[in-house]
Amino acid sequence: MFNASLKQLSTQLAEKKISSVELTGEFLKRIKTQNPNYNAFITVNADMSLAQAEAADEMIAAGNASPLTGIPFAQKDIFCAKGWLTTCGSKMLSNFISPYDAGVIERFNQAGAINIGKTNMDEFAMGSSNETSFYGPVRNPWDVAAVPGGSSGGSACAVAARLAPGATGTDTGGSIRQPAALCGISGIKPTYGLVSRYGMIAFASSLDQGGPMAKSSEDLAMMLNVMVGHDQRDSTSLKRESEDYLRDLDQPLAGLCIGLPKEYFTKGMSPDVEKAVEAALEKYRKMGAKTVEVSLPNAPLSIPVYYVLAPAEASSNLSRFDGVRYGYRAKSYSDLDDMYRKTRAKGFGAEVKRRILIGTYVLSHGYYDAYYIQAQKIRRLIAQDFIDAYKQCDIIMGPTAPTVAFDLGAKSSDPIQMYLSDIYTSAASLAGLPSMSIPVGFGEKNRPVGLHIIGNYFTEAHMLNVAHQYQQETDWHLRMPAE
Ligand code: GLN
Repeated sequence: MFNASLKQLSTQLAEKKISSVELTGEFLKRIKTQNPNYNAFITVNADMSLAQAEAADEMIAAGNASPLTGIPFAQKDIFCAKGWLTTCGSKMLSNFISPYDAGVIERFNQAGAINIGKTNMDEFAMGSSNETSFYGPVRNPWDVAAVPGGSSGGSACAVAARLAPGATGTDTGGSIRQPAALCGISGIKPTYGLVSRYGMIAFASSLDQGGPMAKSSEDLAMMLNVMVGHDQRDSTSLKRESEDYLRDLDQPLAGLCIGLPKEYFTKGMSPDVEKAVEAALEKYRKMGAKTVEVSLPNAPLSIPVYYVLAPAEASSNLSRFDGVRYGYRAKSYSDLDDMYRKTRAKGFGAEVKRRILIGTYVLSHGYYDAYYIQAQKIRRLIAQDFIDAYKQCDIIMGPTAPTVAFDLGAKSSDPIQMYLSDIYTSAASLAGLPSMSIPVGFGEKNRPVGLHIIGNYFTEAHMLNVAHQYQQETDWHLRMPAE
């Protein structure tokens, strides 16, 4: 049951072989016994989950079920969920019970899905290892000495350890794809604007995008069918005709032209990752695809550009946490200014403060043109590189992360090394392109390797097809870590 696909679970529920209350109960039990090893969840609330499951069983009995009705999903703790503690991995929001649902949560609720718990994450989604969480690090289920990646590390771990059949994540510079790669699962960051950011606690608004994390491409498609849609409460939400992301899964790949950016196949990639990625590309060639070299000349600048723009936006977004309206407030202070200062000094962790300082600096008078404007210009060039590359190929592939999961503590004192974890993922974020990671084998110490697939705008259905065909021929996505 814990390794079943969403389709299998959906069928079992529809045929009344299992009820949602039973299924939810089984996952709650598994979380109870196994989560202490991993710390994947910040909040589990069995009563609230089971109440939803009862309602789902009624929907099924009344013949009102949709494909995800009755299935439990873990929700990243960045999504506001009514009545649930919503911390965003922070001390600042350690007492915040959300009075409303995020757009994404609403959509899962409308589909009759169950919220099985809120997952651990880097504080305000800033990090690549889950070590900046106020709630302690998450451990990688393939090797508890290793990080799960970040910032959606709790969600990636929950799916990999089979504590939930699927989970939500958010991705600003790689936070769905990098943890998916490090935990051996599948994850997709859709085209910017497809998934509502309403009620998704903002980090860098021009980059933040929610998306699904699951075992397989087919599961991702089923979740995207629920998650994508216009939301007038998010000013950057796109209004488009709805599509069925399952529709192209079975298309053959013959004639597919895969672009391999020469900037990504360099010494930066560790040999074990390269070996698994090369083997996956060879498999694609056997399935009828051809590979061509392409170039993304400005992609190597994506980390410096990202670390100007994301902190700039974060410094503005995080100014709302001032101790006045919600969240943590310092206990003693002399006046209003002192209250602001002490609240923010005590309420934010070191990485978040570093970003606020960088962001404030690059936006300040005199530096704005030199850093912020310059970074915006290069962002445009990075996007143009992809537009040019797609004249020569249908889809782009490469490694998701430069190495397999690293040990806990290995990079936590060196922010630059940590930032380089997103060297392959941040360019697609800056361009707003859809991109995903799928498991393609194991590297050093038997830790998972992910293949990065970057598509052109709005080609999610095609990307899912490309991933699904590979998963029909391989079983990496079905492998489970030892318990
Ligand atoms: N690791 C990157 C950062 O720390 C990306 C995080 C994310 O995508 N939320 O900013």
